[in-house]
Amino acid sequence: MTELQIKDLHARTPTTQILNGVNLNVRSGEVHALMGPNGSGKSTLSHVLMGRPGYSVTQGEITLDGVDLTGLQTWERAQLGLFLVLQYPVEIEGVPASSIFETSLLSPEGDFEENLHHVRQEAEYLGIPTGHLLRGVNLDMSGGEKKRLETLQLVTLKPSIAILDELDSGLDIDGLRVVSNRIERLTKEDGLGVLVITHYNRLLEELKPDQVHVFVEGRIVVSGDSSLADELESDGYEKWMPSTETSVALGGLS
Ligand code: ADP
Ligand code: MG
Repeated sequence: MTELQIKDLHARTPTTQILNGVNLNVRSGEVHALMGPNGSGKSTLSHVLMGRPGYSVTQGEITLDGVDLTGLQTWERAQLGLFLVLQYPVEIEGVPASSIFETSLLSPEGDFEENLHHVRQEAEYLGIPTGHLLRGVNLDMSGGEKKRLETLQLVTLKPSIAILDELDSGLDIDGLRVVSNRIERLTKEDGLGVLVITHYNRLLEELKPDQVHVFVEGRIVVSGDSSLADELESDGYEKWMPSTETSVALGGLS
């Protein structure tokens, strides 16, 4: 059993305060959906959890099974079992995905050839052509192809907690179904804990959330069960938004 605990998390860039007191616990086997308007800080939360440079935690804490993550490098967080699918996966020229898998499979556990066979099987299930494993990671791939490759890493590296930032963006209907179905299976069979950031219910139809959280202005303003996602789909975020002083002020510009 693993638990990611986020307590009263405040974070900023040198110029902007973005996270304003996030409280959230994600345990093994649980799926938490985070939904909220553009610019509310969802991707920033994922970056801060993973330790991306350029953001500083000014208050609160992040722990994984009681270990304080805030001072750790990204690779150390990954080694402890945290995994992030970026909203915009980066392209890495000169580093083929196959070398990532081969290196990660060199661990003393299990048989290398057997593990490699497992990667090939998972790639086939996820609809990833072998050629994609041989070129630079994500290089010249469509948005959906990148998300499939990121999912292959998730499935084979076996983290304990995964953050999926708009995994659905770019994926076609079949891709969305196969990817979300595979991740749902990971939560059931391997006890993966998931924090999934999304705008759409379609992903949540396969990857069934235990809880849905609405994120506005850098914090969770309300949490509920999956019916909250249905409510958001029909009514939008307006009910949870603060009063629009900015738009009034900008009105003076016209
Ligand atoms: P979301 O993922 O919810 O759409 P983001 O976390 O990407 O929102 O961004 C939240 C706000 O913080 C946005 O207004 C964005 O412009 C700003 N922001 C994010 N990262 C930075 C950064 N590195 N420097 C300055 N502003 C940033
Ligand atoms: Mg985002």
